[in-house]
Amino acid sequence: MTEYEGLIVKALGGFYYVRTQAGLFACRARGLFRKEEISPYVGDRVTVEPTEEDRGFITAISPRKNHLIRPPVANIDQLMMVVSTTQPKPNYLVLDKLIAVAEYKEITPVLVVTKEDLEEGQEIAEIYRLAGYEVYTVSSTLGTGIEAVRKALKGKITAFTGNTGVGKSSLLNALQPDLELATAHISQKLGRGRHTTRHVELYEVAGGYVADTPGFSAVELDSFEIIFKDQLQYCFKEFEEYIPSCRFTGCSHTKEKGCAVLQAAQEGKIAPSRLESYHAMYEDAKKLNEWEHPSR
Ligand code: ZN
Repeated sequence: MTEYEGLIVKALGGFYYVRTQAGLFACRARGLFRKEEISPYVGDRVTVEPTEEDRGFITAISPRKNHLIRPPVANIDQLMMVVSTTQPKPNYLVLDKLIAVAEYKEITPVLVVTKEDLEEGQEIAEIYRLAGYEVYTVSSTLGTGIEAVRKALKGKITAFTGNTGVGKSSLLNALQPDLELATAHISQKLGRGRHTTRHVELYEVAGGYVADTPGFSAVELDSFEIIFKDQLQYCFKEFEEYIPSCRFTGCSHTKEKGCAVLQAAQEGKIAPSRLESYHAMYEDAKKLNEWEHPSR
């Protein structure tokens, strides 16, 4: 029997919807995945064995490059972090925590700074460009900067995150006017509650896919991932080139003499807010018990 390779674009009501070259198939997963304790995720590349015209079974899941638990999405290429210049002002620590988790999961963090019409986003843009990240400044109201974000979506699976009020919905709406309508419709159909947040779908936007869930306003941070103190430094991208020059191996970059990271920060090559976030996260990471360490 002919099998097809495809992408799970939606999970709903016990079915996985797989987009293949032969069209869209509503699939069940074979029982074997339950034994292996793998459940298919939206974003998974899978093999489909058709049973009827538009029905089939998922018979294999390709290895994932990453996945999130909340929302359950696999193979995310980039995490677009939506922050506003004002109302609310960005919380740099929260933002840096999210960026670190994305780095840890090997998902490229990208920043979208909204509400450029209310206040300039230059300060925040400079901090993150200095750290080596792509930053887009937009005004969804005026439509400025939207085209550049659309270009960045092409050929990729993108997840969005942003706190309430930063204008995530307006941005998505500016990117693709019928998108919010589609998510609102699903939301209405499912009602509020457990099922709503578990529904994930990949929407085609600007030649790529946007992973969105009704109620997915922010990636859940606390239960999301623990980064241990010796791994944390590598989740701050701009530290990387300085770490080998620290005088002591195992330098924590907090107060050591001859620390190349602290030196770089002094010279303005690392933004003060980024170093502060690292230090705050390092203090938290220190409190984790040794036995929680995965390598022990
Ligand atoms: Zn150091």
